[in-house]
Amino acid sequence: MEIGIVGAGLGGLLAGAILSYNHKITIFEKLPFLGGRFTNLNYDGFQLTTGALHMIPHGSRGYLAKALKMAKADVKIVNSKPDGTFLINGREYLYKDLFDLLGVKDKIKALKKATNLKLGIVDYNQPFGEFLEDVDLALMIGKAFTGWALSLDVYEVTMKEIINIANNYYKFKGPGVPIGGCKAVIDELVKIIERNGGNIIKEYEVKKIEVEDKAYIDDREFDIVISNISPKETQKMCNIKFLDKKIEPSKGIKISIASKKGIIKHNGVLFTPECERINGLNQVTNVDKSLAPEGYHLIMTHQAQISNNVKKEIDLGLEDIDKLFKNIDYKILHIQSYRDDFPVNHAKNGHDVGNIINDRLYLVGDGAKGGDMEVEGIAIGVLKVVNHINQ
Ligand code: FAD
Repeated sequence: MEIGIVGAGLGGLLAGAILSYNHKITIFEKLPFLGGRFTNLNYDGFQLTTGALHMIPHGSRGYLAKALKMAKADVKIVNSKPDGTFLINGREYLYKDLFDLLGVKDKIKALKKATNLKLGIVDYNQPFGEFLEDVDLALMIGKAFTGWALSLDVYEVTMKEIINIANNYYKFKGPGVPIGGCKAVIDELVKIIERNGGNIIKEYEVKKIEVEDKAYIDDREFDIVISNISPKETQKMCNIKFLDKKIEPSKGIKISIASKKGIIKHNGVLFTPECERINGLNQVTNVDKSLAPEGYHLIMTHQAQISNNVKKEIDLGLEDIDKLFKNIDYKILHIQSYRDDFPVNHAKNGHDVGNIINDRLYLVGDGAKGGDMEVEGIAIGVLKVVNHINQ
């Protein structure tokens, strides 16, 4: 079949690469570079990114890794060990050791929560923040986690979502970093599509999608159209209506930092529950030194954007960084804020639209995540689309 794909982000390229083995693929990308919010941005030898923090939520064991295998992509993902630590009172704790920090009363409350969760005695629509709020430390930890992983405040996430994320975590474990960063994944997918005879057209902004007896991108005819742009933008340019609700994006701020000494000993996430705004940071040069010039570390902080005052949010983030790097020299390389049409995720976790609109029109990307977070959710969506088209 002839398949036209709108957008060459991770979702579009992943779908394109897997489908390119059996179908003729044409991808239209409005920008002069490929990969959307999942590629490197070279800045003085530091491999900053257009979006992602060079991290794949379930590393080499998750849905993205599975989809990359299906595409026969040669990408090496190094799993984090430990997955992460929590910085509290100047000391780092593993997740399993946090319980020891609680006083007796809080220990009893925490045990009761854990038991209720195990027994399924839980209101799935309750905000995660409400569930945690009578144990201060648990609320701080929850906030750092949802801010880092979902770019959402702890009260914006329901118990249903958290339980789903926890189940996926127990199944696939924690994050990993691809050698070469995000761009290594993108380059490999592009290579596969081109090797299989696919065509990727850069600097082409699609204006119109039509699905009738055939499918059309502007005036070019296809059997199928896959849209990798946001569901909202897809709807705007499409002749059929499929959105029945407003989709809210998740917003966040990333600050990229250079430091010779570095601040993290491991290759996972350092969660920072005591910070005013920064939810966590990673130091990807602990996995791949080539992501920074020799002698330097690349560190990236992430914070959910809590208020609409972006400048204030950035200032609070910078104050946190100053405290975190108390005795360590560092230099801010880049501050990026993500919102509106260039968000962290086009749909907040749990608010995604489905992937299959009809037999001619499919959606992939982070407005149509298929049941997990971030690029893992994108990969699930892509796998659903691929299965449906190939069945
Ligand atoms: P996009 O990357 O947005 O791709 C869509 C493409 O479509 C773009 O290239 C765009 O230019 C193109 N396009 C748009 N309109 C048109 C048009 N009309 N015609 C043609 N082309 C068009 N995820 C993780 O898993 N791990 C992380 O560590 C992580 N950290 C993050 C940190 C930040 C600060 C941000 C912003 C995101 C992070 N994410 C992370 C999320 C992840 O980066 C995104 O979910 C993912 O990259 C989105 O991919 P996509 O394919 O959905 O969309």
